[in-house]
Parts: sequence; structure tokens; C-alpha cells
Amino acid sequence: MSNCAIAIHGGAGTILRTSMTPEKEKAYLVGLKESLTAGYEILKGGGTSMDAVIASVVAMENNPLFNAGVGAVFTHDGGHEQDACICDGATKNVGAVAAVKRVKSPITLARLVLEKSPHVLLAGDGAEKFAVANGMELVADQSYFDTDFRRKQLEFALAKEKKDATAHTQLDHSDDNENSKMGTVGAVAVDEYGNVAAATSTGGMTNKRHGRIGDTPMIGAGTYADNKTCAVSATGVGEYIMRGMVSYDISALMEYKGLSLSEAADVVVMEKFFELGGSGGVIAIDRQGNIAMPFNCKGMYRGSMLADGTIELGIFDDRG
Ligand code: ASP
Repeated sequence: MSNCAIAIHGGAGTILRTSMTPEKEKAYLVGLKESLTAGYEILKGGGTSMDAVIASVVAMENNPLFNAGVGAVFTHDGGHEQDACICDGATKNVGAVAAVKRVKSPITLARLVLEKSPHVLLAGDGAEKFAVANGMELVADQSYFDTDFRRKQLEFALAKEKKDATAHTQLDHSDDNENSKMGTVGAVAVDEYGNVAAATSTGGMTNKRHGRIGDTPMIGAGTYADNKTCAVSATGVGEYIMRGMVSYDISALMEYKGLSLSEAADVVVMEKFFELGGSGGVIAIDRQGNIAMPFNCKGMYRGSMLADGTIELGIFDDRG
């Protein structure tokens, strides 16, 4: 499994060592490790990067600590609308879903769209009809995704909005949200066949309005993969990631300017995206198994695992 490798993120934003309890930190590290291991085991067994990124993302969708699946943030109306996307770098096939309300695993549905539909992106009711038609179980009630922690974030956002109408949408990871804890999840991997893949899944942002769709299911914005260059999954303020076409921009710099993975990821995240006003980060991988995980905010839940089993986990900004 020579160059096999996998990297994951569990969201980026205002993640400070000072506001993290040892118990919480441990729980996040355990969650990240479980997700990494789920993907790595598949790669180790000769599986594909597509299967590996799905396994890693599903593990985080099922973990209430992360803003995807159970534990997804609340919309303005007190519900949940989730987005997800998977990209196959070998074929450039893509499957994505947006604003789904009752799908247990949005990333699994995104893959179903890739494999079983002639389309690339399905949204809302149509995506759910497609899910049922293809034998996927929907949750009976949206409360399946509820957590107290996320409800408090919505209450905080609504109270803030009352005082300041311009603060209408409270990003899960905005710098002034006391309860800010990031959560969009993503994985990128390269398998022993040299194929890269990327997958991202998210509840979006707290207090978002009905129908708001973020960067995650937008191909080239929040998620992208191309064997010629790299696979990327982004996290952060979706409106800026979309405007900056962050994931595709990294790939384009590699393809057209010959930049290395880490050079391209740094230019886009630390310069271009930052200058646009965006806050967040990416995980990116190339066919050689190089990994880059830059972020321009206080922290990003992240981890990587190489072919020899070496694991690296991180939460805070350790760059000094
Ligand atoms: N990028 C996601 C969105 O805007 C949120 C996040 O990464 O936490 O929907």
C-alpha cells in the first residue's frame, strides 16, 4: 500500500486551548482517531480511496461532537438542513446533496447520487425521494440530529441577532460566537492504485435561513478531486469558500502553475481566501501521499495517517 494516506478534518474556527476542557479535548481526539482508523483500515486492506473517505466521514456523521449527521447545527427555524459531496479523482465523477432534512448519512446519499443517478447534485425533497427510491432509510423525525449543545448555539445566535440585525446568520465557527465549535467534516485519501478522493459533509451554519446551501456540495468550492493534481475538502465560512472556489483553486495552481500541494494550499488558504475575508482551512492530498492542512483561523480539528500507520492529530494552532 505504498503511498496510501488519508487526512480528515472536523471543522475549523475559534478553537482555543483556553476554552477546552481536558475531557472535551480527549473526546475530540478519540473521535478524530476513530474516523481516521475507519478510512485507513480500508486503504490497508487494498480498498479504494472512495470507500475510505466515506468510512471516515460516516464515522464523524455518527459522532455528536461534529457538525454533520447527529450533532448538526440548527437552522433559524430550529430544524436541520445538511449538505454533502463526494468527488472521485480518477473519473472526475461527483455526487452531491444539498439541504436534506431527514437523511441519516448525507455523504452516503451523495455517493448514491454519484453511482445511481444521471445527475451530480440533488437538493431538498427531490434528494430525499431519490434516497427512498434507492432503499435508503430516512429518520422518522429531525430530532434524531438534535443535541443540547447545538441548540444553545442557536439560542445564542438568535439573541445576538435581536440586538444587532446585521448579525443575522451566526456561523458555527464565527469568531464572536462564544459557543463556537466547528464541525463540518471531511476526508481526503489516496489509495494503492494512486487514485485520490474527497468527501465533505455538514450541517452548515447555525441560524442559517431556509434553503441556504453552503460550499460543501459545490464542486470546486468545498470539495474537489482530480488525479492530475489533488483531492481537497474545505471547512470555514461557506460564502467565502464558494466565492474563492477554494478547492479548485488549489488544484488549478498545481495544474497550471506547477506549484506543489503545500505551496498551492498555502497560497489559497493563507493569502487568497484570507484576503477575501474568509476564515477556515482545508485538508488536501496528492497522488504521492503528500498532505497539506493549512488553516487561517485559531484552530482546525484535523488528523492524518500514512501508509506505515503513523498518525498525527491536531486541534489548535501549534504554529507558534
Ligand atoms: N463550510 C460550511 C458551510 O458554510 C461550514 C463549516 O465548514 O463549518 O456550510
